Amino acid sequence: MLTDGHVHSPFCPHGTDSPMEDYVKKAVSLGLEAITFTEHAPLPAGFTDPVPEKDSAMRAEDVPAYLAEGRRLAQQYKGQIDVRTGFEVDYIEGFEKETEAFLSANKGAVPHSVLSVHFLKLEDGYFCLDYSADLFEAKAEEFGAEALYRSYERTLRLAAGRPFGSLTPPVIGHVNLIHKFRKRVPADDPIDWEAVLRLAKTHGRTLDYNFAGLNKADYGEAYPDADILKAARLYSIPLQTGSDAHHPDDVGRYFAGDDELGKL
Ligand SMILES: [Zn+2]
Ligand SMILES: [Zn+2]
Repeated sequence: MLTDGHVHSPFCPHGTDSPMEDYVKKAVSLGLEAITFTEHAPLPAGFTDPVPEKDSAMRAEDVPAYLAEGRRLAQQYKGQIDVRTGFEVDYIEGFEKETEAFLSANKGAVPHSVLSVHFLKLEDGYFCLDYSADLFEAKAEEFGAEALYRSYERTLRLAAGRPFGSLTPPVIGHVNLIHKFRKRVPADDPIDWEAVLRLAKTHGRTLDYNFAGLNKADYGEAYPDADILKAARLYSIPLQTGSDAHHPDDVGRYFAGDDELGKL
C-alpha cells in the first residue's frame, strides 16, 4: 500500500499557501491509498524558535482549524483515499513536559504523528540543525562537527526510546537529518547507528522513509541513507514513505507516479 505519511500544509509558516485539498487531489492523482498531514506542531511555550524568521512551526491558535480541515477532507474523500491528520512533533531536550502536554491534548492525532529532531541543545542555547548550510558550517567551526553529531545522537536516542509512553508518535522523522549538509561540512560520523536502530526496534518504532533529502544539494539521498536503510531492514524496522511536501506538487515525490525510484 503506497502512502505519503509526511505532508505539510498552508498552516506551515515556511511552506506555501496551497490549500490542504490540493495535496489530497495530488495524492489521489498518484493513486495513493493514504495521505497523512503532519504539520509542524506549535513549539512549546517558553521555547524561542532559534531560526532567524522564527517560522519553524504552526501557530498554536491554528491547531483547531488545521484538525477541522483534516476531518472535513477525510469525510469528503472517503472511499477514494484515506486522509489522516497528525503532527510533526519536535523532540526538544528540556521541553519534554510541554511536548507531552500537547500530545495529551491532541491524543487523536498521535497515531498519525511523526517525532523529529530539528533542535539541538548546545552550550550556547538551542540550534536548528537543518536550517541552512551556512549556519551549520558556522556552528561546526565553533563547536566542531563531531560535537553537533554527538548532540544529535543524544537527542535522537531520547526521541527513539518511546519518551512519551503511549503518547509517543509512532514514526521517527528523517532519522539522519544531521547528514543534510554532509557534503558541505564533511565529518567523521561518530553516531552508533546500530544502537539507535536497536532502540527504535525495541520500542516498536517506524522510520520515516523521507524522500525530501534527494534534492538537497549537500546530501542527495533519501533519509535514511543507504547504509542505515540496510541496517533498518536487517532489524525489520517498518518504514513509512513520506515526501515532506511543503507544496502539493511534491506529494509522493520520488516514490510514487512517474518519478518512482522503485526498490521500495
Ligand atoms: Zn517544514
Ligand atoms: Zn516535515
